Amino acid sequence: MIGMAEWHDKIREVKIIDGVKLFPISWLGAKDFCEYQLYLEKFAGVHVEKTYEMILGSEMHAKLEEEHLAKATEKMTIPEAIERSEQTGAILVAREVSTKTLKSGIYGRIDEVIIMPDRIVIVDDKPGETVFIGHKKQVWGYCISFMEQFNVNKKFICSIRNRDTKEFLWSEELDENSIKTVREDIIKLHDLINGVRNAIPTDNAKKCLKCRFRNVCDKSLA
Ligand code: SF4
Repeated sequence: MIGMAEWHDKIREVKIIDGVKLFPISWLGAKDFCEYQLYLEKFAGVHVEKTYEMILGSEMHAKLEEEHLAKATEKMTIPEAIERSEQTGAILVAREVSTKTLKSGIYGRIDEVIIMPDRIVIVDDKPGETVFIGHKKQVWGYCISFMEQFNVNKKFICSIRNRDTKEFLWSEELDENSIKTVREDIIKLHDLINGVRNAIPTDNAKKCLKCRFRNVCDKSLA
């Protein structure tokens, strides 16, 4: 048996930087589907095969990044891009932007950031046409991380775009309510990481029916 401290150091994808634990921002979306699924995969180390959609998703992201790099004209850091935009009025687009914030203990990679003189647009590319609340929480998480990391005091626009058609499915300005909602989930996930509470399984049998862990999950309703 391993001790509690040792156990919590073994959670998949949790990083410790300067003594602060950071978890991937994508967990905010995963939590919304089923916290217990997150627990099985990342905490208990249960392995199940990736679905076809997940493999396709990785390939599509790589393709979009390749297309972007082929069109990109200049390489610069995010602070340089923000400064350039403010000084010249240019609209600059960056893809696969790594972000992390020790203040909130989260990290991730943003699909696309559109930098405008007066605003920052955070774009997440998703398959399908449906925007779930978990998707929105993930984008709100990216906004908070970017804002805290780069100390940006501008309007943030949160967007979800169809990965295949490139059509924008949802766009709205980040507001206090969204920040409050996602901060509550960030705290809940840190409580899970710190062993303060247990993961809660979904009570929606339809989710279990499509869950790739259903055959190994002791809480499955399917
Ligand atoms: S089978 Fe149901 S309860 Fe179990 S991890 Fe999947 S969604 Fe959650």
